[in-house]
Amino acid sequence: MQIVFIGPPGAGKGTQSVRLAEYLGVPHLSTGEMLRGACRQKSEIGIKATEAMESGQLVSDDLVEEIVFSRLEKPDCESGCILDGFPRTVPQAEALDHWLAKRGQLLSGALELRVSKELLVERLSSRGREDDDQGTVLERLRQYDKLTHPLLDYYGNRQVLQVIEGSGTQDEVFSRVQGVVAEMNSSSSEQAEK
Ligand code: ADP
Repeated sequence: MQIVFIGPPGAGKGTQSVRLAEYLGVPHLSTGEMLRGACRQKSEIGIKATEAMESGQLVSDDLVEEIVFSRLEKPDCESGCILDGFPRTVPQAEALDHWLAKRGQLLSGALELRVSKELLVERLSSRGREDDDQGTVLERLRQYDKLTHPLLDYYGNRQVLQVIEGSGTQDEVFSRVQGVVAEMNSSSSEQAEK
């Protein structure tokens, strides 16, 4: 199963996607983590990505695609993976669809974690990651509205979008995630039987 998680910073995408990957026994791929790792190692991609990340902008599509697709090629992703933070723009989503289609695969689903602006700001102000200072966070939220929000229509039009309410405890949210994934599984096996 290839599942993508979409949600603004602070929606709980990181936590929920890690839990889902463990639950399904597939790798968890976070582009934020991969990029932060590349920055620490000062690899070529890392050096190019640092400035955008520090200011809350998105890293360019081609750099992110390079890092994600080379990871997706690894054998442990063959039976699926959970993508956390990718795609984040419509061109990235098109690139992912294209990459999967070339391998005869389809996206199993896109999960949107939906959280009110008030709750996001509250959660982000108590998180304390290095790129979580107020100005950067506001810029990341703006970037989300401008560049990532259009993905919801992209996946909605393809009928793979599932909206999950992101308020409540981590356990409450995770049981909603499990419910949606169980439904996705049963409808994909029905499709296979047809
Ligand atoms: P959050 O969802 O809380 O913003 P992430 O760890 O997913 O945090 O991402 C941190 C930063 O990494 C983003 O602000 C952006 O600069 C960069 N990044 C991560 N994924 C992508 C992506 N798919 N496309 C472009 N930039 C990305």
